Amino acid sequence: LMDRRSDLATHEIKLGGVTLGKELFVIAGHCTIDPKNPNYFYETAAAVKEAGAHVVRGGVWKPRTNPYSFQGDVKSLDILMEASQRTGLPVDAEVMDEEHLKMALDAGVHMLQIGARNALNYSLLRAIGKAIAERDTVVLLKRSIHMGPIDEFIAAAEYIVSFGNPNILLCPRGTKPGLDGYRNHPDESITPLLKEKSWAPVVVDPSHSVGKAAYVPACSLAAVAYGADGLCIESHIDPAKGIGDDPKQALTPAVLAETIQQSKQLWSL
Ligand code: PEP
Ligand code: MN
Repeated sequence: LMDRRSDLATHEIKLGGVTLGKELFVIAGHCTIDPKNPNYFYETAAAVKEAGAHVVRGGVWKPRTNPYSFQGDVKSLDILMEASQRTGLPVDAEVMDEEHLKMALDAGVHMLQIGARNALNYSLLRAIGKAIAERDTVVLLKRSIHMGPIDEFIAAAEYIVSFGNPNILLCPRGTKPGLDGYRNHPDESITPLLKEKSWAPVVVDPSHSVGKAAYVPACSLAAVAYGADGLCIESHIDPAKGIGDDPKQALTPAVLAETIQQSKQLWSL
């Protein structure tokens, strides 16, 4: 299925008014929705739309390294869907288990994110593939922190698409160990390798790769230079007021707008 020569090579994935591969596709929004301050998310959603994003992202349930850190809150699911209503844009959230999966699908989440920590969780990948087989849901599959060769990433995607819904986006997001001062080892450079072996669009996440807002614009442009079809960027109306990764990683809407504009220019060269 993932073979470039398969029938699916001509399959078009459409979301947020964009056909993947026809113009640069952008997902942007919070790392984490703060259920106590929903207005930040509503303001961010409006601002990322204005900046040119096509999908609003917002973490409802969060995989945290420290079990005592905020783990997300199901109340944020309503906030996410309200932001979709207000902006008219589709939304993306990570699901970490089958309970989240059911709740997210029942709520109408348009794009399911599979995080780096679950990208090798084959039973979850299978459950997602089964659950969306008859739907037009899109999956953003992050590359595992520890994923080895490209084929392992493509095989993980295959677990989902083999059930019949081919709307999958491959998302390099950096691997461990990190490169010097970066959060992870930026891996946007695997984009051409993925595109050689698979027909699936590649949407790079520069935010988790470099882990610091100041480096995100350069990593975004690098991803586009390598041939990425899209970007997934953390952005917050007021990063210092954010939670999760947002204080460190999120771009302000102004920087996001500039990054999208420059990335689009480079993409169309
Ligand atoms: C995220 O997108 O906020 C996230 C937790 O990503 P990853 O799974 O790539 O760490
Ligand atoms: Mn994050």
